[in-house]
Amino acid sequence: MSDKKVIIVGAGIVGLSTAYYLHKKGVEVTVVDNTDGSDNCSFGNAGYVAPSHLITLSSPGIISQGLKWMMNPESPFYIKPRLNRDLMKWGWLFKKAATQKRVDAAVPVLYELTVRSQRLYEEIIAEESIDAGYNKPGLLMICKTQEALHHEIELVELVKSYGLEAETLSREDIEQMEPEVQYDMTGGVFFGCDAWMTPNVFMKEFQTKLIAAGIDIQFNTNLQKIIHQNGSIDKIITDKGEIQGDDYVIAAGSWTPNLLKQVKVDIPLQAGKGYSFVLPDPVVMPKLPSILTEGKIATTPMLHGLRFAGTMELAGTQLNINQRRVDGIIKAVKDFMPQFKEQDFSQIKEWAGLRPCTPDGLPYIGRTKRYKNLLVGTGHAMLGWTLGPITGHLLTQEIIGDQPDYSSQLLEVERYA
Ligand SMILES: Cc1cc2nc3c(=O)[nH]c(=O)nc-3n(C[C@H](O)[C@H](O)[C@H](O)COP(=O)(O)OP(=O)(O)OC[C@H]3O[C@@H](n4cnc5c(N)ncnc54)[C@H](O)[C@@H]3O)c2cc1C
Repeated sequence: MSDKKVIIVGAGIVGLSTAYYLHKKGVEVTVVDNTDGSDNCSFGNAGYVAPSHLITLSSPGIISQGLKWMMNPESPFYIKPRLNRDLMKWGWLFKKAATQKRVDAAVPVLYELTVRSQRLYEEIIAEESIDAGYNKPGLLMICKTQEALHHEIELVELVKSYGLEAETLSREDIEQMEPEVQYDMTGGVFFGCDAWMTPNVFMKEFQTKLIAAGIDIQFNTNLQKIIHQNGSIDKIITDKGEIQGDDYVIAAGSWTPNLLKQVKVDIPLQAGKGYSFVLPDPVVMPKLPSILTEGKIATTPMLHGLRFAGTMELAGTQLNINQRRVDGIIKAVKDFMPQFKEQDFSQIKEWAGLRPCTPDGLPYIGRTKRYKNLLVGTGHAMLGWTLGPITGHLLTQEIIGDQPDYSSQLLEVERYA
């Protein structure tokens, strides 16, 4: 048990997981979030809890591929051209990280984090009786071209080398696994190690459980100022008043770098906007989630319908919908899954979320060096849903002074300082 009080900023999956583990250790927790608690990036994502995703976004070849995509407004990747110092610095660091050596160093870190986090989800779901459709029969990668298939087969070998379940599939194998679904494909691969669920259902149930357990979650409360003196955070000022604690965790997703700037903690991070929408009654419901590889579209059978998610747009922290990008998702779905026609998408309600993306594809997790009671948990990019629980668990160990059961210098908050 601990007599500490901890203030957490951000009620996404990272903030809520941190609150959960701290509370279990007897810590008094207050979470503040500037939304009403019904939406953030942790609600509308594809819901994969995916240890197969061992390769970071910043990998060799991504720069030339990205430049090609930039020319096409419906492509999976886009950077809004703008003269912004933070973006330019991030781009330079991203380019430096896109080497085989850096990717090879990141793989074991992502392996440790993703596998542990998947186990933690299973524990939370069992202990708290959360029914969000958690399921682990794996993830399909559907490839149209031999080139994409070849790339995925390399990933299968890597994933298998870590003892995780993965295999290459022929077109006929996939047709047997998904007899109802027609895919326009060459073949694919299958990652049996991956799980998925309906994230918005999990988030709502998790919030309810945390509040019932006595955790103070203050929605519609915006952190405005962080007050510090002598290398320590003194209090935070919100639009609803001041809040004081012993430790402070900033888990504000893509908005974290701006909040930390005022206390001179520099974490290069760009918001990678993605879109999703759900077809409540799709023409065909796949049994398994799949990624339409060349289109970079995630399809997930969820509790309330079939969700499609995709695109990565570096355009700042606005949540406005760029219709061309959504059209790009629809086009790719029709292209890969010809059973879907234009009219199937006439009623969709588009959702946008911001993935917090670091230049090297690894999150920032831990205590800052500059302030002894300031901790950060963000930067998980495309793996934030997967990595929420392990991030909360590691931050909790750091706060209560337990020996961390995993650590890596590659996760340090001020590694770019
Ligand atoms: C289309 C799409 C698909 C994805 N699919 C997957 C997937 O399948 N698997 C996976 O692992 N990951 C996936 N992700 C990534 C994942 O959703 C994110 O990485 C993750 O949700 C980030 O969680 P978070 O808690 O860090 O941030 P968020 O969920 O963004 O939460 C941060 C919270 O902090 C609040 N906040 C910000 N500033 C302040 C302030 N000043 N005061 C108070 N509160 C503040 C925000 O409003 C927000 O509520 C996907 C993302 C997208 C966009």
